[in-house]
Amino acid sequence: MSSLSRKKLILQIAVTDRTFKKVPGGYRGKCIHCNTRLEITDDGELLGKTTVEHIVPKTHGGGDVLENLALACRSCNNEKGRRHDVKGPGDPGYEKVVAFLQARKRKRHRDA
Ligand SMILES: [Zn+2]
Repeated sequence: MSSLSRKKLILQIAVTDRTFKKVPGGYRGKCIHCNTRLEITDDGELLGKTTVEHIVPKTHGGGDVLENLALACRSCNNEKGRRHDVKGPGDPGYEKVVAFLQARKRKRHRDA
């Protein structure tokens, strides 16, 4: 994915997540896991500890598409990778965290 389309996608994640509010220079919202404060710029640059979370990880077929993406803090994203994504489909912990994130993303959704 080019960096331009990546940045557009990051902006779309924030715009369609009701926890994200417009602030001067960008958007501020909450980690999909722990609600810690996150920030991105108007250009779709990730600031501070903000990372792009693949709800279904790429290694298990998850795409770089809006429906599969959320913004998460670095420590939550790393922890999901280490504890759950390595196990993958069929593992109860993995299934649970994916279902939780999908439900939470739906709940937070707003139309752009
Ligand atoms: Zn977090």
